[in-house]
Amino acid sequence: MIGTVDEPSGGLKMSADLVIENVTALVHDAAGDIDFLPGATIVVRNGVIDSVATGPVDAAGATVLDGRGQVAMPGLVNCHTHSPMVMFRGAAEDVSTVDWFNKRIWPMEVNLTPDDVELAASLACAEMIAGGTTTFADHYFAMDRVAAAVRDSGLRANLGWTYFSSEGPQGFDRGLEFALEYRGAADGRITTSLAPHGVYTVDDADLERTAAAGLEHDLLVHIHAAEHREETRASRARRGLTPIGVLGRTGLLDGRVLIAHAKGTVPEDVPLLQAAAGRVGVGSAPKGYLKVGEHTTPIRLLLAAGVNVGLATDGAASNNTLDMWESMLFTSVVQKYSEQDELWMSARQTLGLATLGSAAAVGLSGVVGSLAPGHQADIILVDLSGPHTQPVHDLASTLVFSARSADISTTIVAGEVLMRDRRLLTVDVPAVLAGLQPRLSALTDISHGRSIQEYNAV
Ligand SMILES: [Zn+2]
Repeated sequence: MIGTVDEPSGGLKMSADLVIENVTALVHDAAGDIDFLPGATIVVRNGVIDSVATGPVDAAGATVLDGRGQVAMPGLVNCHTHSPMVMFRGAAEDVSTVDWFNKRIWPMEVNLTPDDVELAASLACAEMIAGGTTTFADHYFAMDRVAAAVRDSGLRANLGWTYFSSEGPQGFDRGLEFALEYRGAADGRITTSLAPHGVYTVDDADLERTAAAGLEHDLLVHIHAAEHREETRASRARRGLTPIGVLGRTGLLDGRVLIAHAKGTVPEDVPLLQAAAGRVGVGSAPKGYLKVGEHTTPIRLLLAAGVNVGLATDGAASNNTLDMWESMLFTSVVQKYSEQDELWMSARQTLGLATLGSAAAVGLSGVVGSLAPGHQADIILVDLSGPHTQPVHDLASTLVFSARSADISTTIVAGEVLMRDRRLLTVDVPAVLAGLQPRLSALTDISHGRSIQEYNAV
């Protein structure tokens, strides 16, 4: 890290740490709409974006990256994942949702060790860096070990330690303890949340405790809720309320909440969401929905209700990748299909959700999600020289419909270069795989007949 220097003029002026020249920068206008600034120079000081402008700058002493032929974008923000589940990538395919939980994933998760979690999280971090994701909201177990992977990889994350009511009070207690201990860790790159698993696996009393602790400690609450219409139907039948209604009754909508999926949101939920406008985020991960033949998140309804909608991948056990470029592509085309509206969810709207929308959903508005001065220098460079991205008539369209995660050449978080010219600088993938591979047969062995939880949301 390059520090500050005294200028000969006598005034204290910080030197640039990093300068990206000759790049086309994706910027947001005052209304939050996407715009592009060709021939831009981005100056980073102390991990923060200092300026994005055309014209010469003094790059003395700085690392200079040539952005010719590339687009600089805010690093993508993945609003909901379970990063260590990359260890189960492809291990539970072509089964019903109920069997996915009860016969595959939850029995396999009995086998987890903290070492497995850290190794898998490191692999996930490598995948995300390589694909231009710079922040992720994570929901899993042994999160102290995920925090170690985040610290070492250089990524930014919001981390929550999952709990079920079936664990007894220690689940909630451990989640709160983790959230308080680790908030601000890794030089501030780690923020934390309370992470009750879902409205169908955590009872009202624990949801109320969570809501109260979230308000008391100003913590985001990250939870699966209204995952699909069947959950909403079952919740009405059993509790007399929709899952969003349960969030309201237990006080969770009085604080900041990040809801995974929210596909089962119905019009009667809108007044509750409107009353909580600005505090509620939703992460939508459409690839996995399509894989199980399901409908998608009603993004138009949620945006109209004042919800901060962002994009996500969910875990790789259902989504197979942590690729936000796939999420952007699927979001646009599935939204167009579900709304039967070819004008809805344009490439620009989609880029808006993946940047400003996702940042707001994870509680990081003004911190990440934009190349505006004062934001963290979380920047990716997209190489558009490939034949599949040429020629360019409409940059937003090229990025959403043509570009791939493999087109990311450079990934920067807080001004630190984590990948340069496709070379990962902070994660040793062969070493991680050497640690993980010998564990795979034990991890996927379900002959013990046990499970960490039972799925009965439908
Ligand atoms: Zn999930």
